[in-house]
Amino acid sequence: MPKCLMRLNKFRHFVQTDAFFETSVPGVYAVGDVATFPMKIYNDERRVEHVDHSRKSAEQAVKAIKGKEAGSAVEEYDYLPYFYSRSFDLSWQFYGDNVGDAILFGDADPSSAKPKFGSYWVKDGKCVGAFLEGGSPDENTAITKLARAQPPATSPDELKAAGLQFASKI
Ligand SMILES: Cc1cc2nc3c(=O)[nH]c(=O)nc-3n(C[C@H](O)[C@H](O)[C@H](O)COP(=O)(O)OP(=O)(O)OC[C@H]3O[C@@H](n4cnc5c(N)ncnc54)[C@H](O)[C@@H]3O)c2cc1C
Repeated sequence: MPKCLMRLNKFRHFVQTDAFFETSVPGVYAVGDVATFPMKIYNDERRVEHVDHSRKSAEQAVKAIKGKEAGSAVEEYDYLPYFYSRSFDLSWQFYGDNVGDAILFGDADPSSAKPKFGSYWVKDGKCVGAFLEGGSPDENTAITKLARAQPPATSPDELKAAGLQFASKI
């Protein structure tokens, strides 16, 4: 095997890449679930096992390859973690990081006509992640902006009471 075709990640044995998904072997790229890459927003090395990142990392690798061929610069990958799932009439979205304290809000009563509930994650006084079940496109856009902006978080009780209003103000 060529020297370090796969510079295996020290934690989970996946493939280490740079911000363009190139491995330590020039011209060899790794994208999607297997890649451990620099997550700019958290100044950290991360691996993401979800569809959105698998598509976007592939796009980034292709841009990098084409950019190299054309001699043009390509911006570093600056990914905001985004996970989603849909099943029957349930549909949730999550943006950001699920670290720190989780603060639940909304109506999670299964007997409600249309339950809508979510959670914020607060770490070091900042809201770093948001989950929403049953959100409208505008509401999902609001939690995306929130996860990117990482605003200072108020007290857990205020955050719980504000619910989606907190994200809508970003
Ligand atoms: C049960 C399940 C549910 C999921 N639900 C969600 C969800 O709701 N939302 C979400 O965002 N993500 C979900 N995911 C995660 C998502 O499917 C993966 O993150 C995504 O498919 C990763 O894409 P990928 O291209 O990196 O890898 P893969 O889709 O795994 O593609 C890798 C391909 O490489 C092929 N391969 C492997 N070894 C070799 C080899 N030696 N030679 C040639 N080919 C090879 C495999 O056959 C496969 O086709 C789910 C995953 C699972 C397993």
